Amino acid sequence: MIAADPLDVPLAKKFGARTAKPLAKLGLTTTGDLLRHYPRRYAEPGTLTDIASLQVGEHVTVVAEVVRSSARPTSQGRGLLQATITDGTHRLELTFFASNVHKLEWRKGQLRPGRRGLFWGTVSVYRDTLQLTQPECRLFGGDDDDEDEALLEAERPIPVYPAVAGFDSTKIGQAVRTVLDPLREEDVPDPVPDHLRERDGLPTLLEALRLVHVPHDEAQWRRGRARLRYEEALVLQAELARRRARVALTEAVARPPRAGGLLDAFDARLPFTLTAGQRAVGEEIAAELAAARPMQRLLQGEVGSGKTVVALRAMLQVVDAGGQAALLAPTEVLATQHARTLRGLLGDLAEGGFLGGANDATRVVLLTGSLPTAARREAMLDAASGAAGIVVGTHALLSEHVQFADLGLVVVDEQHRFGVEQRDALRAKAARTPHTLVMTATPIPRTVAMTVFGDLETSVLDQLPAGRQGITTHVVPADNPRWTDRTWQRVREEVDGGGRAYVVCPRIDGDDDAGEAARAADEDGADLLVDADVPAEDARRPLRAVVDVARELRERPDLAHLGIGVLHGRMPADDKERAFADFASGAAPVLVSTTVIEVGVDVPDATVMVVLDADRFGLSQLHQLRGRLGRGTRPGLCLLVSAAEPGTDAHTRLETLASTTDGFELAALDLELRHEGDVLGAAQHGSSSSLRLLRVTRDATVIERARTDARALVEQDVDLAPWPSLREAIEESLTGEREEFLDRA
Ligand code: ADP
Ligand code: MG
Repeated sequence: MIAADPLDVPLAKKFGARTAKPLAKLGLTTTGDLLRHYPRRYAEPGTLTDIASLQVGEHVTVVAEVVRSSARPTSQGRGLLQATITDGTHRLELTFFASNVHKLEWRKGQLRPGRRGLFWGTVSVYRDTLQLTQPECRLFGGDDDDEDEALLEAERPIPVYPAVAGFDSTKIGQAVRTVLDPLREEDVPDPVPDHLRERDGLPTLLEALRLVHVPHDEAQWRRGRARLRYEEALVLQAELARRRARVALTEAVARPPRAGGLLDAFDARLPFTLTAGQRAVGEEIAAELAAARPMQRLLQGEVGSGKTVVALRAMLQVVDAGGQAALLAPTEVLATQHARTLRGLLGDLAEGGFLGGANDATRVVLLTGSLPTAARREAMLDAASGAAGIVVGTHALLSEHVQFADLGLVVVDEQHRFGVEQRDALRAKAARTPHTLVMTATPIPRTVAMTVFGDLETSVLDQLPAGRQGITTHVVPADNPRWTDRTWQRVREEVDGGGRAYVVCPRIDGDDDAGEAARAADEDGADLLVDADVPAEDARRPLRAVVDVARELRERPDLAHLGIGVLHGRMPADDKERAFADFASGAAPVLVSTTVIEVGVDVPDATVMVVLDADRFGLSQLHQLRGRLGRGTRPGLCLLVSAAEPGTDAHTRLETLASTTDGFELAALDLELRHEGDVLGAAQHGSSSSLRLLRVTRDATVIERARTDARALVEQDVDLAPWPSLREAIEESLTGEREEFLDRA
């Protein structure tokens, strides 16, 4: 018979259903889960205090004797327990609440008059009396030994656990110790390989668990935490390193540059010179495409730094070598825009098979879900026959019906909308592993790149093309009619001067409920802050909606005779296309839209952008939005309209955005201001689920060390065979990730 794994015992079996139920609410179902439920923080024990010296607001530990205790129902039917304790001279009141008086019976039995004990809590005043509300208590048993030990324990940091109603931090601590105390080293396999642990003098996993759950002092829990944090980073990086190594071991078709091909013809007719960064990154990519190992590269760059041209040049090299390239975009609008941009840049080089097409011209086809059946079939035929050198599309490209003659390069634009799984699905369409180039919409901090895209090599474009005019950003108070008037006058002036104006709203129409709006916005590629981030009174204020705002603007005398268009994700593809074309041509120079224009949209004449309810968008997103401006020869003006009060976090974020145009700086700030889990979760399905202690903003050095270590392990053995515990930890974290991914899909 095999002994049960002591880390895999169902909590219901270990403790019974009454304890298991509240723990399940915390997502804890096995003994192993419970041990990985780390304290959120540690309460300082505070020095033992005599009651006379207590200060209101202070966190204290008091040794005292119970004088009396009594429990009664309150007028609302809840339970109230009041007790008095004394240090022999002065008295202190204790107050406990519960949902009903019966729940206080145990506590009342504990607080029998004459018993001594330790009481932890924060001092408050109620009706002129000092009191502790819901203090933690530890009563002495009676014999002196016990008391000494209790006093010693009183000096220890008190772990504070994330808890749920009906099961407080103390009870969680007790449950943890019931599981933890009897464990032996051999019960707790350690994912960190011995040689790494010894190199850094790290505690074993069991030791680390003891240090964080039952620390004697601050240094101990810090040491335990540091080790667990490194473990998280190592497991994640080992998985990424393994992915990368596995792909690298497969064979790709080498696609060397061909002199006199499309790429040369394209370079010869480029209307501008490449920036130094574009040239350097271009050479890096060209060399990797020419090799028989699959390229796995992340291209990140400042908004407007010219990533599209870099990607197109890579695609042309592959087409020159007889292969095809697929460009995957997150939204239909963006895919359509990309196809148009690529055709525009290529001119007659994209008219392969048509009269007037250049010699050895290729074809750019668009494949999206909303194409009419006939057009769709034709696009699919072009992809399958190889007539299309470049296929641009949305998720529709991932459909199993789509086939390629010889897919040599996959370019994923604005990757943060795609999961690793989707990248894999597209890669699977090639007979041999295609080269992969991933581009991010906005700059991301290095540690995020390492965490989310750790399986990719990174190239950065941090230079904007010469001659770019700057973008000025201002925060405009929403409730001031004078400012609002001025805002729309500025729009008028810009349009009269030949410019175009974007007006961005967080919602599509006024009467969709918040959930629906979020979903609709999601289709539009938006990334609205969740309600929890917004103060309650703010959440009740209706958000500005595209349809309403367009109507209001059409009625404004100061905008009379201006064409005002509307664009959002729920419009049929034809309407979107028309709205966009009217905007670009100037027929409707004001475009009221959702964040559907966020990524990649490129209208050089756009000079002004008004973002309504700007505080509802993330910093990186606003940066990306305003990156639609300043693309031509005229400077851009971005007006962030917000009802957020000066001094609030929301307002500070907007001021920050107004103060800098450095995307990398903003991305780091954004990450600090927002919940990191959200950032990582949005960036890649899952993966954040296994990150408990690791913070990508703070733990850069840990992540870098773990990455170096993980790559060394994988180099030694791709399958990590010598380290089965590490392998198991990876599989476990992946299971959660897959489940999460399937849930969302
Ligand atoms: P992003 O990196 O944000 O995707 P794009 O690729 O959309 O930026 O480029 C923004 C604009 O700059 C496009 O209109 C593009 O044609 C133009 N552009 C790209 N490279 C250069 C360059 N070297 N010089 C001048 N303009 C450029
Ligand atoms: Mg782009």
